Amino acid sequence: MLKTLTLLGSTGSIGKNAVKAARRLGLEVRALAAFRSVKEMEAEAREFLPRVAALYNEDAARDLRTRLADTSVKVVGGEEGVLEAAATEADCCLNAIVGVAGLRPTLAALGAVKRLALANKETLVCAGSGVLRAARERGVEIIPVDSEHSAIFQCLQGAPRPRRIILTASGGPFFGRTAEELEGVTVTDALAHPNWSMGAKITVDSATLMNKGLEMIEAMHLFGVKRENIKIIVQRESIIHSAVEFEDGAVVAQLGIPDMSIPIQYAFTYPGRAGTETPPLELEKIGSLSFSVPDRNTFKCLALAERAADAGGAACAALNAANEVAVGRFLAGDLSFPGIAETVERLSEGYSGDASPERALEIDAEVRSRAAGSRG
Ligand code: NAD
Ligand code: MG
Repeated sequence: MLKTLTLLGSTGSIGKNAVKAARRLGLEVRALAAFRSVKEMEAEAREFLPRVAALYNEDAARDLRTRLADTSVKVVGGEEGVLEAAATEADCCLNAIVGVAGLRPTLAALGAVKRLALANKETLVCAGSGVLRAARERGVEIIPVDSEHSAIFQCLQGAPRPRRIILTASGGPFFGRTAEELEGVTVTDALAHPNWSMGAKITVDSATLMNKGLEMIEAMHLFGVKRENIKIIVQRESIIHSAVEFEDGAVVAQLGIPDMSIPIQYAFTYPGRAGTETPPLELEKIGSLSFSVPDRNTFKCLALAERAADAGGAACAALNAANEVAVGRFLAGDLSFPGIAETVERLSEGYSGDASPERALEIDAEVRSRAAGSRG
């Protein structure tokens, strides 16, 4: 099993869960990185004494440096600092940064580790082909952390190529509502996910179904399947985390209670497994499982993601940037919930064809500056 780890986004929802896994498995943490959570980063750094601890925010990094002056930890700041943490040599890097901010750190990690445990789906949405090529060239294995992709990955161990992927969705907090009923929903409503406890951005993405659109693009890259061979289905209880269908019609699924501890730890122990604190799945307590087709007319973000997937990597990078802007505005109270899909559609127009990681970052900047220009 791997012994050394770097944790990017270590203070977030996935990051904190990964810290618990590192503790449970007795792994050596060589580098930590986060945005600006000084206190949480200080506690993690004191526990693991990594070589490097990075905070993107320079003021926060200065504060952290003072706090950790009595330790051997090198504290670095800014994007350079985060990239230094990402480029620290280790058996595995977990990238749990949120958003396209995780793309450069992914590329930096590819030169320094043997395994990339990838939670940052935006890396693949924005620059999937370039990132996978770079990983192949450097002999780095990518193990998905996203629960659906971990499920698919688990179903495919020792298996031939599947005929179809069945990507499950919870449906989010607004499942079953009409477009009219979505007009007045608040940030608090959107953040109340029925099954999963996650960071704010992905929770809003789950409410709009953009998350499933991003995950579809992520699955196309990770498993080399065409969009028409990915079936998205609402599995309301989030017990079936996803499934694969083989040529003979057999369907293999991975089940479990909704707890990210399992896919996070599996990315570290793969191909082996180890115990977690997750309670066992007792199917009789679940009683029944329900399935339905997602409502693409009401939840337009899913349809927009499907359109971007067909238009290519450049359109996916634009879609992601527009979505990050729109979700940020919604969380700040500057945009209504239906405004998210409208904003994404308007800001992401006009891109097609493939995009290298460099081009994806340019597109990201273009969309953000277009957004800033169209404000107010
Ligand atoms: P979060 O908001 O809880 O945490 C994000 C982390 O990234 C924090 O530690 C933050 O400090 C750090 N960060 C943000 N910007 C940064 C930057 N520029 N440089 C360095 N660090 C930065 O988010 P989360 O819910 O943990 O999600 C993280 C990623 O994992 C996202 O891509 C999300 O889509 C994916 N994911 C999350 C879950 C989940 O259950 N939370 C499930 C599947 C996939
Ligand atoms: Mg997921």
